[in-house]
Amino acid sequence: MLHEIEELKRQNSILEDGIIELMEKIESGEELLEKKKKELEKEEQNYQKKMEEGNKNLEELKKEKEKLENKKAQLSPSISANLLTRYGKLIKAKGRALVPVVNGTCGGCHMELPPQILNEVKSGKRLVTCERCSRILYQTEP
Ligand SMILES: [Zn+2]
Repeated sequence: MLHEIEELKRQNSILEDGIIELMEKIESGEELLEKKKKELEKEEQNYQKKMEEGNKNLEELKKEKEKLENKKAQLSPSISANLLTRYGKLIKAKGRALVPVVNGTCGGCHMELPPQILNEVKSGKRLVTCERCSRILYQTEP
């Protein structure tokens, strides 16, 4: 019985690691897309000549966006609906839902995190959010 509980806990932890990884992938994809869009906008403003080229890039970006959206749609069902809602709200409100722990502070709002929170993030047993900005925290250093 105890063994089963431990096993379930272990599986749960692996699952949550997977969720964080998936969300990071989605987020980094969206960030990349935003960055590319901005680069393209700049290019279009500065160089009339490059408009045509820019349009081509835009087409490519559209395709890329479609690909990313498809991927997101594929990945989404594997993330719990509740988490996805939370994630979506955070993205909308803060632009970023996942932030790393940086030197014991929240990478989003830079609040110093209590040791208990730091330990929980480190253990990776559940999703931990920043008390101040509600972003989901993750550990980058081992
Ligand atoms: Zn924060």
